[in-house]
Amino acid sequence: METNKQFDVCMVGAGVAGGIMAAYLGKHGLRVAVIEKNMAEQERMIGELLQPGGVIKLHELGLENLLDGLDAQPITGYGLFMEGDNFKISYPKHDGQTITGRGLRNGKFVQRIRQHILSMPEITVIEGTVKELTEEQGRVTGIKYTAKHSEEEIQITAGLTIVCDGMFSVFRAQLSSAQKKVSSYFLGMILKDCELPFKNHGHVIVAKPSPCLIYPISSTETRILIDFPGNEAPRKSAALTAFLTGTIAPQLPPQILPSFMAAVAEGKFKVMPNHLIPARPVKKAGVAMIGDSLNMRHPLTGGGMTAAFSDILNLGNRLVKTGDLHDTTRIDKAVKSFYAGRHKQNATINILADALYGVMQNEDLKIACYDYLKSGGKHALEPIAILSAISRDEQLLLRHFFAVAFYGVGGIIKPFPTPKNISRSYSMLKAAVSIVRPLVMNEHPGLFTRSAFRMAGVLF
Ligand SMILES: Cc1cc2nc3c(=O)[nH]c(=O)nc-3n(C[C@H](O)[C@H](O)[C@H](O)COP(=O)(O)OP(=O)(O)OC[C@H]3O[C@@H](n4cnc5c(N)ncnc54)[C@H](O)[C@@H]3O)c2cc1C
Repeated sequence: METNKQFDVCMVGAGVAGGIMAAYLGKHGLRVAVIEKNMAEQERMIGELLQPGGVIKLHELGLENLLDGLDAQPITGYGLFMEGDNFKISYPKHDGQTITGRGLRNGKFVQRIRQHILSMPEITVIEGTVKELTEEQGRVTGIKYTAKHSEEEIQITAGLTIVCDGMFSVFRAQLSSAQKKVSSYFLGMILKDCELPFKNHGHVIVAKPSPCLIYPISSTETRILIDFPGNEAPRKSAALTAFLTGTIAPQLPPQILPSFMAAVAEGKFKVMPNHLIPARPVKKAGVAMIGDSLNMRHPLTGGGMTAAFSDILNLGNRLVKTGDLHDTTRIDKAVKSFYAGRHKQNATINILADALYGVMQNEDLKIACYDYLKSGGKHALEPIAILSAISRDEQLLLRHFFAVAFYGVGGIIKPFPTPKNISRSYSMLKAAVSIVRPLVMNEHPGLFTRSAFRMAGVLF
């Protein structure tokens, strides 16, 4: 076995998270090894809408140029559609500046990041599969991998190993105590030359039984994601085709229908599970996790890459400041403070994603949310500031979440309260609490929040 290739940092995986982290650390002079099991471009339906908050993070990382040359489409806001009605909301400005999100092909973005790190002298990129994390006296000292087309195990040692092997992480089980939950599945198709009702916008179709997302990912392609609740993946069949053409198609804006019907006829479906994985890292010296291996939320709000870039800035800055990546005490301190503080940036992204998904599963809350956002002003601007990750104000998010529920009560008890509509309002408020309570607790295992929400649980 070949051994003792020593680096400051060793990255497991060069997806969006691993690639950007390597680029950032390399830019600051750290010697980084990146082990990626498949360097070829992938056809993926994940990570295709980068919110403005993620663009801002890339800018802060000094890596915004990696969005160039991808035929990425600017995204300036969202359009919402329900039962023949629609409206749109624009993203707010950030520090007086208009920041657009981007619709892009994930495979192309990842390859662009990889080309960049391949050109950096500080970074060694290896195509191989990481087989295990190596340990000495309870501390992770690096990894063992096998190179592509080889059985030989090669060892790499590093001051810190960063695991970013994605949603199907094989190392999560050793490094996290989180329980993984599949909330639903997304079925994805590419719509060719699709005319969108709101150009350069994300489109949320508040459909029955579950929402659909539509957004441009290149100048000729538009992604549609159709949600299938529960934990059974949709399978290609005549029944699926009938569902898409008979149940989903009539709920889509008419402009989209020609390209949607053509895509259904072509039958190039992709299906992905949508996970909820709270960040529950077990503290182990010499190793950290970022990206989907650490933390996942429902992709309805397109927050995954933004959360990853926020973590990269947060952990990356701490490591750069540490300087000597072989001073184990300082590395461990940096990782510990990263884990302790990361919720400040990511709580809103995580809570909103699964709270909004929960709202979409409840008929009364769904209508309340649509009407609340449509009423405009702060009801639209502040929630979209949170969705875009321009704002990370958790209190603001919770205020709007409960305001939606009470707005719904107002709608239900009109024109006057009756025992029936009071009972329905109570059920809706109870549902709202039970949606948001576990999500807030996931972000704050702290005592105060737990007890505040337990009290709310007693009331509802
Ligand atoms: C259906 C769906 C839609 C989504 N849409 C959006 C969206 O619009 N916007 C958004 O921001 N987020 C979205 N997300 C989330 C987003 O895609 C992820 O948060 C993001 O891709 C995570 O990046 P990552 O680097 O952690 O994982 P990945 O990009 O999956 O990268 C992991 C890498 O690790 C490599 N690897 C795995 N195991 C090993 C090993 N043993 N050795 C070496 N290499 C290994 C893999 O080959 C891969 O390259 C979506 C997610 C889903 C499921």
